[in-house]
Amino acid sequence: MSKEIQNILASLPSVDVLLKQIDPIYPHGKAKEATQQVVARLRESVVDGTRKTVIDQKEVIAMIHKQLEEKQFSLRRVINGTGTVIHTNLGRSSLSEKAQEQLLATSLHYSNLELDLESGKRGSRYSHLVSIVKKLTGAEDVLVVNNNAAAVLLVLSTLVQEKEVLVSRGELVEIGGAFRIPDVITSSGGTIVEVGTTNKTHLADYEKALNEETGAILKVHTSNYRIVGFTECPKLEKLAELAHENNLPLINDLGSGLLLDMRPFGLPYEPTVKEVLDQGCDIVTFSGDKLLGGPQAGIIVGKREYIEKMKKNQLLRALRIDKMTLSALEATLSLYLDEKEALKSVPTLQMIGLSEEDCLGKAAELAAMLQFITELSVKIEKDSSKIGGGSYPEHLLPTYAVVLSSERFAADVLQEKLRFAATPIISRVKNDCNFLDMRTIALDEFPLIQESLQEIFK
Ligand SMILES: *Cc1c(COP(=O)(O)O)cnc(C)c1O
Repeated sequence: MSKEIQNILASLPSVDVLLKQIDPIYPHGKAKEATQQVVARLRESVVDGTRKTVIDQKEVIAMIHKQLEEKQFSLRRVINGTGTVIHTNLGRSSLSEKAQEQLLATSLHYSNLELDLESGKRGSRYSHLVSIVKKLTGAEDVLVVNNNAAAVLLVLSTLVQEKEVLVSRGELVEIGGAFRIPDVITSSGGTIVEVGTTNKTHLADYEKALNEETGAILKVHTSNYRIVGFTECPKLEKLAELAHENNLPLINDLGSGLLLDMRPFGLPYEPTVKEVLDQGCDIVTFSGDKLLGGPQAGIIVGKREYIEKMKKNQLLRALRIDKMTLSALEATLSLYLDEKEALKSVPTLQMIGLSEEDCLGKAAELAAMLQFITELSVKIEKDSSKIGGGSYPEHLLPTYAVVLSSERFAADVLQEKLRFAATPIISRVKNDCNFLDMRTIALDEFPLIQESLQEIFK
């Protein structure tokens, strides 16, 4: 190395010195990463002769700030290595290709969102889903709002208003922090009437609680927990009979909203939307982005007379969904017209359907791509993944993970480095290693993981 190059290199401030002068609005990890990258880039250009002048500290700081500002959007794509398929922190379900195409086509251009193409008159944004939902569930009508919490709120505030809602004590659930059934009933203007006990509620308990003030009977799917042992609740058909004898609607908050029987995948029985409608529920609500595998939405299906009332509720305007959600949802639902197609093309279903052998095959492929990275130890281990999103809370799916460890970085340091990758990689730390669960990582993400690890271990 020439004396001249050595002099220029000596003028390059150290990472530690530079870091102290980076604007503290940037998180330390990101600031450090950007500083290291800028210093490395400068060093390279000095050594290869493209940079021939002494380096001024102010200039380097400006370069680092520029890089930090350029750093992509705040909301970004990540790689989900956690194995939890419906991960609320990671955006729940990812969309199928068909849903992406539809979403782009209708949002990059104008659309017939509220125009009836046949008559040329004003149409309804909700009409686009009516025929497909009818085919898939047998429901008379459908309405879609922001999410399932909004759906429950709209249903109750339309059908119950100042009246009483009967709910079993075993179904007074809280979902994802702030959504509590008793609070939703209260904020919709209704009064909650708890019936039965935590583990057993009989038809007679509902009967006893009925009076002039009753506005509806509500069933809530206990999606995120199980009461096991001596439990009992009346058959849905019986509850429907009781509601109808008293001219009341039976409302069912199903949570996940299965359209397919998942038992062929070894999952426990859960009722589908069609089944609960056939059993006499008048209104059923469910999420668009849980097991359905579509965009965030709350879907309300059931009797037209009730849904018509909801359409006239002022709240609907505040909860209404936009065209992007609608088009992605219609496209997702269209895949369900052919069950095999849905299992293949809806990512959430496809990931749940992966067998242990499928996961092992993927693990072998990724491990082979990573084995030549120096100082990185790569192993394959049997593990278990979760469905998540409050669905099938106790059920674990057998899987395989690619397990990373290194003498160079402690497990939590490597986890952070993976998170800071160009496409952030979210791993799970277990036994001082980083686990990348093959269930939730797509094959076309392997090269991104390889590149990021090459960069980390450079
Ligand atoms: C998840 C869930 C909700 C909330 O649905 P979001 O779409 O997250 O608003 C409500 N009820 C039940 C039973 C659920 O499982």
